[in-house]
Amino acid sequence: MRENIQTASPAVVIVGSGHAGVGVAAGLRSRGWEGRIVLIDAEGQLPYERPPLSKDLLVPGAPAEPVPMRKESWFESRGIERVHGTAASIDRGRREVRLADGRALHYVKLILATGSTPRRLTVPGADLDGVLMLKTLPDARRLAAELAPSSDTAQDAARHVVVIGAGYIGLEVAAAAAKHGCRVTVLEFQDRVMSRVTSEPVSRFFEGLHGRAGTEFRFGAAVTALEGTRSPDGAGRVEWVVTADGARHRADVVVAGIGVIPEQGLAADAGLEASDGILVDAGGRTSDPDIYAAGDATRFASLYDGASQRLECIQNARAQAEAIAADITGQAPPAPEVPWFWTVQHGVRLQTAGVRHPDDDVLLRGDPANGKFSVIYLRGGRVAAVDTVGSLADFNAGKKLVAQRATIDPSLAADPSLPLDQAIAPLEPAAL
Ligand SMILES: Cc1cc2nc3c(=O)[nH]c(=O)nc-3n(C[C@H](O)[C@H](O)[C@H](O)COP(=O)(O)OP(=O)(O)OC[C@H]3O[C@@H](n4cnc5c(N)ncnc54)[C@H](O)[C@@H]3O)c2cc1C
Repeated sequence: MRENIQTASPAVVIVGSGHAGVGVAAGLRSRGWEGRIVLIDAEGQLPYERPPLSKDLLVPGAPAEPVPMRKESWFESRGIERVHGTAASIDRGRREVRLADGRALHYVKLILATGSTPRRLTVPGADLDGVLMLKTLPDARRLAAELAPSSDTAQDAARHVVVIGAGYIGLEVAAAAAKHGCRVTVLEFQDRVMSRVTSEPVSRFFEGLHGRAGTEFRFGAAVTALEGTRSPDGAGRVEWVVTADGARHRADVVVAGIGVIPEQGLAADAGLEASDGILVDAGGRTSDPDIYAAGDATRFASLYDGASQRLECIQNARAQAEAIAADITGQAPPAPEVPWFWTVQHGVRLQTAGVRHPDDDVLLRGDPANGKFSVIYLRGGRVAAVDTVGSLADFNAGKKLVAQRATIDPSLAADPSLPLDQAIAPLEPAAL
């Protein structure tokens, strides 16, 4: 990594080398941008894919190294300068980004791709050893070491892992812990898993999958404290998780997967519009014409219905990055994409196209008992989102139906023997 950076020569400066930041750099070069590109990142290592952290790097026999987004030679051959450092402030008047170590970089365009940070537990005892979160490679390595059996088999037999939060990451961690033979309890405030992002049939299917692997769920569980025996200097290791109903859950390791907070501090301090996310338009533009933002850090209007949203997924980070690269190079914006996401738990893949709302009508296609089914979400009679379990064909068709805001014939769509895109139906005349 290049450290003797030229600080005065103007560049497109990108803060954050996650999927959004690297995506902007790649998009600029592929679109013919010949000027300098400087990628600043606090993590200080070759940018890597985050999804495998919770899917592949935690399981028994996991690879030791992460999957790099691009090779070192890719950055070098494209003249993309990588700088290890933390951007601490932006001087919009001087068009400078100042790093925490005092270096300042002049920019012609600035991209904030600062991502998100896991929400921290704030209950008493959250500072105890053995209470972990998962965002970075070091987090994954720490967690993998905690889950892997030690040579003391008696201790392993008693190893209890409590996962707080039954969202994607919590459940992926729960699956990995179960594979290590840990005794896993998932505590969830809501009444089912992944309730924020999916519907009841999908939740119950995944609950069953985890349950059959030995994982126990406690729904409606509000964590009030973590307890452990502390030494006189205050240090100690977690032993119990206490919930509001007075229950105490044995814990050798606690993993909190309770959502993320957009990293908007730099933008907000510089006076850019930000409110639970840096506000951007469809081109990734902030309220300053020379500053863009992309990825988990942003909030923007849904292309589907205009609703203000944040999307924490690779697809969104990459799509916004492409839009920014097109805007900076003066090219036509890329065609809008339907957001999509996936998770893998106990080897079963859930793929989602579009963004479901809790009040959407729900249409079940196929039988969850067969391990292959889809759920279609209808808003105002049109396909707004599709969840698919074990069906790539439905996922691909679902993306198209969401993009077209298609109306479908429910009885045809519910029949899994027919291709999903054959269920498209004309709108009822009254609705036109
Ligand atoms: C364990 C895990 C599993 C996931 N699985 C999936 C999945 O299966 N599918 C999917 O679609 N999405 C998944 N996601 C979400 C996905 O990884 C994110 O949506 C995506 O990484 C967002 O990219 P980003 O570039 O916006 O942010 P990030 O990947 O968070 O990168 C932001 C980078 O900015 C750096 N940074 C922040 N502030 C500063 C600063 N001031 N100075 C310098 N650097 C800074 C950070 O260090 C970080 O490296 C997963 C996330 C995690 C954590």
